[in-house]
Amino acid sequence: MDSTQPSWLVEPCPTWCVRDHTEVDHPEDRVHASEATLVPVIGTRDDQALATESVASFDLVVQLRRGVGELFDWVAVEPTESHHPRLMLSRESAAVVAAAMSELANSSPR
Ligand SMILES: [Zn+2]
Repeated sequence: MDSTQPSWLVEPCPTWCVRDHTEVDHPEDRVHASEATLVPVIGTRDDQALATESVASFDLVVQLRRGVGELFDWVAVEPTESHHPRLMLSRESAAVVAAAMSELANSSPR
């Protein structure tokens, strides 16, 4: 730990954390975070089924996060603009969802 580390950060950052932790970070912001991967997508954030009229292009952020003092990593997926809807999935769940999405996306359109 170096002398610039905030007093509340009493653990080393995971190797993937790129967040600049500061003494004045709000307790809810005391989270380790990886580089954000921006994924441009076409879709809808509307929760109504088949809401074709609400289709838009937007960016999703995919990022690994872990609360300071926590044991588990979470894969966060959320729109860059609104952060809603947000999915926070365990690494294992993210892998299962990614595989299921890939299978569906690559299935025959007929
Ligand atoms: Zn960190």
